[in-house]
Amino acid sequence: MSILVLGGAGYIGSHAVDQLITDNYDVVIVDNLKTGHRQAVHEKATFYEGDIRNKVFLQEVFRKEKIDGVIHFAASSLVGESMEIPLDYLNNNVYGTQILLEVMEEFGVKHIVFSSTAATYGEPEKVPLTEEMRTEPESTYGDSKLMMEKMMHWCDLAYGTRYVALRYFNVAGAKEDGSIGEDHNPESHLVPIILQVALGQREKLMIYGDDYPTEDGTCIRDYVHVVDLVKAHILALEYLKNGGESNIFNLGSNKGYSVKEMLEVAREVTGKAIPDEIVARRPGDPSTLIASSEKAKRVLGWEPEHTDMRDIIGAAWRWHSTHPNGYDDKNEK
Ligand code: UDP
Repeated sequence: MSILVLGGAGYIGSHAVDQLITDNYDVVIVDNLKTGHRQAVHEKATFYEGDIRNKVFLQEVFRKEKIDGVIHFAASSLVGESMEIPLDYLNNNVYGTQILLEVMEEFGVKHIVFSSTAATYGEPEKVPLTEEMRTEPESTYGDSKLMMEKMMHWCDLAYGTRYVALRYFNVAGAKEDGSIGEDHNPESHLVPIILQVALGQREKLMIYGDDYPTEDGTCIRDYVHVVDLVKAHILALEYLKNGGESNIFNLGSNKGYSVKEMLEVAREVTGKAIPDEIVARRPGDPSTLIASSEKAKRVLGWEPEHTDMRDIIGAAWRWHSTHPNGYDDKNEK
């Protein structure tokens, strides 16, 4: 019996596959390699290159492999981009999940764990955010993930397909040995951008606004180590296997750090100056997002271990400093 990991060549997917294989699961990966990387595909996993929207292709995978459960990371995930090309986001995320759920139903696969996001909440009423709070996404990306959650809800009622939606806060870091990590092109996330400045690949960090209602005026986010995050997926799979009901969990470290605080930690970890400049706010950025992951702790027994930002930025630095060009680095080929 295998676990099918959709998007297993991407940033979070590749770390999940690595953990699953360490934990002795058989893993099948499907990835269209649009944002994933062939070099990130684990050598011990069975790999199918293809798109989840291609139903014939997906049926073939389910026919060939005995799939026990699914972890679904295959989605477009940039807030800003989703506002420019909303139909692409709806097609990839919502329609892609529609096809996946149809094929799961056809082959009688009843368990799915999938990446949702804190962007489903929109501007929070208060922090820390708990799962029952109002969801009013302010981006196509956030709404597409909320739609995916709802699709699964209806499939649960009709077919008994049990799901766990994991609402990620800000994921960062890399595998401890720095052998796999984050490689987006173009990059838009704070931690890799700061480290690209440290490597001299960018001139300075543009801080998007210092006039937010926070202590130092910059946005506050809850950063969770990718290695901690992926462990929640495995706990969620086991929870479903043990008869757990469909459920939604926040995954964060329960503490917020401002952009300026993250920059200071990165200066300390890398020993580099890392110049910065305050620029205009980025549209759509809420001032503060902090998770309550109390429910994941209570129900799944999940607790993040790497809550010190030096751990998260240190792990990311090991990856970036040894792979300055990401997976395109010559050494990786
Ligand atoms: N940010 C920034 N400069 C950058 C990238 C990000 O100031 O070059 C800020 C951004 O405004 C937000 C935080 O860093 O407050 C985290 O942004 P990221 O894109 O990493 O994640 P998001 O919170 O948007 O999911």
